[in-house]
Amino acid sequence: MVLLSDKQNASSSTFPDPFISARSKAPDRQAIALISDHGDPAADIGKEAAGGQNVYVRQVGEALAKLGWQVDMFTRKTRADDATIVQHSPHCRTIRLTAGPTEFIPRDRLFEFMPAFVNAFQKYQAKHHYPLIHTNYWMSAWVGLEVQKTHNVQLVNTYHSLGAIKYQAVPNRPAIANTRLDVEQQILEQANCIVATSPQEQEALRSLVSSQGHIEVIPCGTDIENFHVMPKSEARSQLGFQPDEKIVLYVGRFDPRKGIETLVRACTQLKENPADVRLVIVGGSDSTQADGDERNRIEGIVQELGLSKRTTFVGRVGHDRLPLYYTAADVCVIPSHYEPFGLVAIESMACGTPVVASAVGGLKFSIVPEETGLLVPPQDTDAFAEAIDRILGDDLWATKLRLRASERVQQNFSWSGVAAQLSDLYRRLLAQSIAHEMLVPVRSSDLSGAIVVPAKALTQ
Ligand code: UDP
Repeated sequence: MVLLSDKQNASSSTFPDPFISARSKAPDRQAIALISDHGDPAADIGKEAAGGQNVYVRQVGEALAKLGWQVDMFTRKTRADDATIVQHSPHCRTIRLTAGPTEFIPRDRLFEFMPAFVNAFQKYQAKHHYPLIHTNYWMSAWVGLEVQKTHNVQLVNTYHSLGAIKYQAVPNRPAIANTRLDVEQQILEQANCIVATSPQEQEALRSLVSSQGHIEVIPCGTDIENFHVMPKSEARSQLGFQPDEKIVLYVGRFDPRKGIETLVRACTQLKENPADVRLVIVGGSDSTQADGDERNRIEGIVQELGLSKRTTFVGRVGHDRLPLYYTAADVCVIPSHYEPFGLVAIESMACGTPVVASAVGGLKFSIVPEETGLLVPPQDTDAFAEAIDRILGDDLWATKLRLRASERVQQNFSWSGVAAQLSDLYRRLLAQSIAHEMLVPVRSSDLSGAIVVPAKALTQ
């Protein structure tokens, strides 16, 4: 990965000036934009504000570049010393736009800086004429809708999280709630296509948001070359875990919505001898941010329940070492109250580790109950304990689950497969748009976004 600071960008002749069209450098590639307002694709994954969305945008971006697209991924700059441009591969880069103060701003207060984000993005749009913009999360969708007012762009959106579901479980809605719900409806009705990551999300959109608009289901994916089956004993010895202990694993952010408390409480109710069980909690936290509070709260519960000696807080682990943790575990638990997709489920299954998860959202799609893991009602401590016990207590069945879990991911959830489906969708949308333009006279205001789709992008 190559990091470019503002200064380097201005002075270096080796790297392209951000305002020079990608097409002038790589004429056979079509430039497209992915927008991720708060999920920086170049950020450390696993921190409070970095999770599935970052992974999705980054992996999709890199995989699309491998398929022949020129991919620019836009996010908001949150730290002054972060590079403005991060070049991930020759045809895929993250561009950090200045929109409001260059500091972390919680999502609930971010919307007021989105007009500035639009202005900053428009400078790139004017130079690169992205004919297709794929937005991620409702605030990016708002940005896309604004750009669509002045440019002829095909708009695709992935929600990642739906306010329409999230607010059902929240007693006090934040001030931004109504705006978010309005934008979620507008984008569904006005985008050229919504990408739902599971049939469950598609159903939720139809029943809770709008009956209008075009939706296609394309799941999230995982890097099956990185997350794959390895010998458990080897992973345990590398991580310093005992060969004979039962390992129950959590991977993810510290956020009350993730339901870590349910898992901790379930661990006190297991039939297994408590001395044989180790709870391993993987995920980053920062004492200056909201996830630090949740981490302290969970540590307090662990202590209060007398589980401290049997619990390991690992902290943030990169994707390079995460496969070792999944492999070392006997079961991975996802106790979320709500989970739009849940990348952790497919990462764990790819490593052959069965999953016990809440029967919510995309987890009902990725996990096949009794075949790759078990689904239980969210926040039901007894049900979690019982399900974990079933897997820990039956080695033969667990071996079958391991096999089916990894097969399911390989067949359905590789990033390359996901990117191929997205690439196909983009090509169809761009081809439709060209066909439409040939029938409809072009308005002069549309010319700045004129579409040039090279034969390669249309035929790959
Ligand atoms: N993650 C990571 N290191 C950690 C904790 C989490 O790399 O220490 C990654 C995890 O591997 C997954 C992502 O963060 O790719 C979490 O995505 P998921 O969809 O499960 O949850 P979200 O964070 O989007 O709510």
